Amino acid sequence: MREFGYERAFDVSGAVALLGSDPEARFLGGGTNLVDLMKAGVERPALLVDVRDLPLGGVEFTDGGGLRFGATVTNSDLAAHPEVRRRCPALAQSLLAGASGQLRNMATVGGNLLQRTRCGYFTDINKPCNKRSPGSGCPAVEGEHHNHAILGASAHCIATHPSDMAVALAAFDAVISYETADGPGELPISEFYPPVGDTPHIETALPPGALITAVTLPPSPVTAHSRYRKVRERASYAFAIGSIAAALDVRDGVVREVRLALGAVASRPWRARTAERVLIGGPASAEAFAAAADAELAAAEPLAENGYKVTLMRNLVVAVLTELTEEGSR
Ligand SMILES: Cc1cc2nc3c(=O)[nH]c(=O)nc-3n(C[C@H](O)[C@H](O)[C@H](O)COP(=O)(O)OP(=O)(O)OC[C@H]3O[C@@H](n4cnc5c(N)ncnc54)[C@H](O)[C@@H]3O)c2cc1C
Ligand code: SF4
Repeated sequence: MREFGYERAFDVSGAVALLGSDPEARFLGGGTNLVDLMKAGVERPALLVDVRDLPLGGVEFTDGGGLRFGATVTNSDLAAHPEVRRRCPALAQSLLAGASGQLRNMATVGGNLLQRTRCGYFTDINKPCNKRSPGSGCPAVEGEHHNHAILGASAHCIATHPSDMAVALAAFDAVISYETADGPGELPISEFYPPVGDTPHIETALPPGALITAVTLPPSPVTAHSRYRKVRERASYAFAIGSIAAALDVRDGVVREVRLALGAVASRPWRARTAERVLIGGPASAEAFAAAADAELAAAEPLAENGYKVTLMRNLVVAVLTELTEEGSR
């Protein structure tokens, strides 16, 4: 591993200034992804700026029933917060579905959003990979890709985004706040992760040197009737092969409001807006849920080994929306 410097930051402007002092500096959250990648030689920062002492560890409630949580709140603390569990069960469930208890105790909101893909070619520095080394190629297209993207991929990269939490945030229109040397800014999650296109190495729309400071979930009563479901190859301690965050409001058998986001199918959490449009105003039935899933998945472009994800995602949409319907809406 390359030798590196380490600094602790105690205020936001100090953290941004420290990062700006070295073009090869990186922020350090819990270190559960960055340090692994440093050991593998994928990341080679000259300086780590530890953000865990910043005053960004709170969970607050915004006017009208929204939630705002700081970038250094740990995944464990966010999942256990009674108001998070009450106002947005899918968010708490998505966090608890990730990693292990020990990792969640270390991992932070900011680091979770910026964790890198688990594509095996990306983490092996002896292999070509357009994301790690632009222009070197994407061996996954012809190689091992059973857990790669079926939606929105390009020939340049077919990796999926690994975060469970980000799927729930995508379903509920989270807004990510950040700070740069030029001042604060905000990005809706729909713009936070750009489409992969021919620039897979550009993973977020954050300006250079930006420190994530907080995430806001806008008020929306439907989030209280929500669920996260994750399918993985073993019962715990594994990344998703498919996941869904959903919320549903049904009245008199008609879908009044619905939120759907899919995970482990694209380079970013996939907001299923086509399915949502098909569902709104229609019957809350298994047939309608399947038709909505089919409409969304019509854009899928599976490769030789990941076609199973189309069926998996269809079944997940139908199962989770049926459960939410049977449990009753508000
Ligand atoms: C064995 C294992 C299993 C896992 N399983 C899952 C899983 O099933 N589901 C899942 O979602 N995740 C899983 N994870 C990933 C885990 O959730 C992430 O490693 C974790 O969320 C990253 O958070 P961190 O604070 O440790 O980030 P770090 O590793 O500290 O940082 C990650 C990146 O974020 C940047 N960063 C950190 N904080 C900020 C900030 N405030 N502003 C700007 N940049 C910042 C860092 O510079 C770095 O680039 C697993 C990890 C491991 C090791
Ligand atoms: S899928 Fe993306 S991350 Fe994986 S090898 Fe191809 S370019 Fe690299």
